[in-house]
Amino acid sequence: MSAPNPDKIAILLVAAGRGARMGEGPPKQYRELGPRSVIASAVAALRAAAPQARIWPVIHRDDFELYAAAMGALAQEVAAPVIGGATRQASVRAGLAAMAGEPPDLVLIHDAARPFVSAALVARAIDAASRHLAAIPGLAVTDTIKSVDAAGFVTGAPPRAHLRAAQTPQAFKFGLIHAAHQAAFAQGLDDMTDDAALASWAGHAVHVFEGEAGNMKLTHPADFSAKAARSLEDLPDIRIGQGFDVHACGAGDHVWLGGVKIPHAHGLVGHSDADVLLHALTDAILGALADGDIGQHFPPSDPQWKGAASDRFFRDAMERVARRGGMVAHLDGTLICETPKVGPHRETIRASIAGIAGLPLDRVAVKATTSEKLGFTGRGEGIAAMAMATVRLPAA
Ligand code: MG
Repeated sequence: MSAPNPDKIAILLVAAGRGARMGEGPPKQYRELGPRSVIASAVAALRAAAPQARIWPVIHRDDFELYAAAMGALAQEVAAPVIGGATRQASVRAGLAAMAGEPPDLVLIHDAARPFVSAALVARAIDAASRHLAAIPGLAVTDTIKSVDAAGFVTGAPPRAHLRAAQTPQAFKFGLIHAAHQAAFAQGLDDMTDDAALASWAGHAVHVFEGEAGNMKLTHPADFSAKAARSLEDLPDIRIGQGFDVHACGAGDHVWLGGVKIPHAHGLVGHSDADVLLHALTDAILGALADGDIGQHFPPSDPQWKGAASDRFFRDAMERVARRGGMVAHLDGTLICETPKVGPHRETIRASIAGIAGLPLDRVAVKATTSEKLGFTGRGEGIAAMAMATVRLPAA
């Protein structure tokens, strides 16, 4: 499939749930989150990410007033709400049916309870669905997952390396997911967990692209206090963390710096991919959180990190910030080496780090210096990196 026409992308916003886990009060998508409701925040984020895409909200039949109040003027910017069904699957099916009169090329199906969706994530969803037809964001799982029996005893632990926590937006070629929904319904299936499960059931391979730790689903009341900060101003506890790392030069024909592969006369020695800059930045974030260091969370003695891409470590640190309800305000890294010359790659590295972090470019700095041929970096025996991170956390 060629690149989709941006005018032919639609977003189905699932907002028909009742939010049983939220306790008393209106469903979570209609609750306030800073100056706006959750659903209005989600719509604003999606409009900023994909201005051309038409957004189709699907709501519960009892919620028209809540919807109108929660959306305000934003209601004019989206399609008229579609009435959902008794299950998530039924609600998505209703939304897809509403779109089918003038079908889009691609449809992104997103939960209204994930209001922190970023433009970068939406772009990845569109790109992945264009190439793979069915694609979902997934996050590597850092906790060890156990399966248990009815009595609460452990029955197994699936290998963590193969596990991903699924997020939305899940993105599909419209015809594929529409047909899958119709086929499932025709066979009496009406309660599948998500659209990826439905696409798999219909026999389609579902690609998993990198999700975002910040793209959390608001589920419990506590999510609204600690995790619901919408801007840095809401986070008064300002932390500065620093990181430092060194890797020795060795055999190879490239180095990884800030998630960018740079051809070079030698490589860097390390248990992982030896991305010295991402390691320093990861430690800077962990330092701001006072939450250990990279070696503690990802011991070099653990074979599963052998050759690992270091964005894995960096994303874990970002996820720790999100779990604390915080945000990273700024990252600043300095590479210390004679070669490779960093200048020609500086903006690529900067964009790479901003992309992995989900931060605007103007909050990410990459600098480089030599050590005037002095010391181990000056003699080309290794590359060093220093980093600082500003992290903002909710009031304790
Ligand atoms: Mg290191």
